[in-house]
Amino acid sequence: MKTILKLENTLSQHRIKPTAMRLLVLEYLLDRETAVSLTELYKDFEKSDRITLYRTLKVFEENGMVHSIDDGTGVPKYALCEEGCECEVGKDLHVHFHCSKCNETVCLTNHKIPKISLPEGYIAENSDLVVTGICKKCSK
Ligand SMILES: [Zn+2]
Ligand SMILES: [Zn+2]
Ligand SMILES: [Zn+2]
Repeated sequence: MKTILKLENTLSQHRIKPTAMRLLVLEYLLDRETAVSLTELYKDFEKSDRITLYRTLKVFEENGMVHSIDDGTGVPKYALCEEGCECEVGKDLHVHFHCSKCNETVCLTNHKIPKISLPEGYIAENSDLVVTGICKKCSK
């Protein structure tokens, strides 16, 4: 069980003003092991409207608390950043794994995307690496 205080602290560390909705969404993200799409979030927050949930995710993303993942399914997914993450190329960005069986996407935070050397004049701003296959749960 996470205390409200702890959740509030996490939000203020990212300069996000705590609201009831933000606290709920943060708690939800902390309890999940996989990345979530807006549609899934909406399903689990039946009583909230989609716009509010979308804005909540966007505020989290803009303040560097979550990162969005393009796992190739065409629908962006969101996952919490690690503490101290700046979503920086060659430092924080990690491999994502998309399971073709359960359709879930997970952060492999211990597997960072190495900085790729680019031709002169090219500046890297983002780097995506999605590995697809069968996840740990499904391969058992
Ligand atoms: Zn990040
Ligand atoms: Zn799976
Ligand atoms: Zn991730």
